[in-house]
Amino acid sequence: MAARRESVQYRISPVDPALHLFDITLTIAKPAINGQLVSLPAWIPGSYMIREFARNIVSISARCDGRKLRLTKLDKHSWQAAPCKGELQIQYQVYAWDLSVRAAHLDQTHGFFNGTSVFLKVHGKESLPHIVDIQPPEGDVYAAWRIATSLPEHKARRHRFGTYIASDYDELIDHPVEMGEFELIRFDAHGVPHEMAITGRVPKLDKVRLAADLKKICEAQIAFFEPASKAAPMNRYVFLTLAVGDGYGGLEHRASTALICARNDLPVIGQIEMSDAYRGFLGLCSHEYFHTWNVKRIKPAVFAPYDLSQENYTPLLWLFEGFTSYYDDLMLLRAGVIDSGAYLKLIEKTINNVQRGSGRLKQSVAESSFDAWTKSGAILRGVVRWMM
Ligand SMILES: [Zn+2]
Repeated sequence: MAARRESVQYRISPVDPALHLFDITLTIAKPAINGQLVSLPAWIPGSYMIREFARNIVSISARCDGRKLRLTKLDKHSWQAAPCKGELQIQYQVYAWDLSVRAAHLDQTHGFFNGTSVFLKVHGKESLPHIVDIQPPEGDVYAAWRIATSLPEHKARRHRFGTYIASDYDELIDHPVEMGEFELIRFDAHGVPHEMAITGRVPKLDKVRLAADLKKICEAQIAFFEPASKAAPMNRYVFLTLAVGDGYGGLEHRASTALICARNDLPVIGQIEMSDAYRGFLGLCSHEYFHTWNVKRIKPAVFAPYDLSQENYTPLLWLFEGFTSYYDDLMLLRAGVIDSGAYLKLIEKTINNVQRGSGRLKQSVAESSFDAWTKSGAILRGVVRWMM
């Protein structure tokens, strides 16, 4: 009988949505002999600022073969367990109350998390498969909750709670997870299944129009990067969209993106014209989708691999954010979603913004890229539209 391959295992439960707490149990079958080191990332790729997600760990403890084990905090985001010859379990709770695409959020209406906020890295075991058991919250009121994520299913069925699997830690933290009652929109782009999960009630949402526009944008981009084969680099893609009263933001991942938009940005049945708000939302989708290639697969050498414990300085963000910003609206034009008149108006707005600011006279885009960690792209924003 072949030995089962070692894996790192997590169980994550939204223990109490009203208290905004995720409960996580990390199980390591064969911990490091001299004491296992674990840590939480200080930042999330795509948003170049130190955020210290470990600040939201409200309690943490360890057990060795079921018996309490000493866990020593080494710095603001690292812990070392005492030596354990058996199975090591680390249990912790994460406070999830950040309504952004960068961290984790949990209330009675939905749950959302990035792996960087909830999954401790097990040092020395990063390249093992990582299996996550995603549990539903308890109670009948949550019976209709489902899962939306590009994280591959292990034993779970599509959109259901259960186990999911990543081939390593790097992949584990690059598939955000949404849970709740969401609308699902599905379409294929050059043969690859795509879906958009929309959380937050949007009455009379025009799902047909949204799917048709997204399909054109995604197909234009796949054809742009792979003109001969039209082969997308992922076998599935998921847009996770949270519709709120007012909001705007997105963060790119290898096979998905997390988006926040205003409800009014989305098209409703009966609305025929292209509103500025809807065009802005499609521009955001286009931007994050373009990153599937530009920065997720074509990236500065310093990002391969990322060092998530500290700043990763590079003078090249202008290329990865700037080119992506240049192409996001241009792809709407090339996909036939907007006409040239509308496109020129967007360019006019960008040029006016650049001319009104003085950032371009103070700093080069390379210097601005380097300073993103402390200036969050503020100066670069005067040169190109700078998103996440
Ligand atoms: Zn971007």
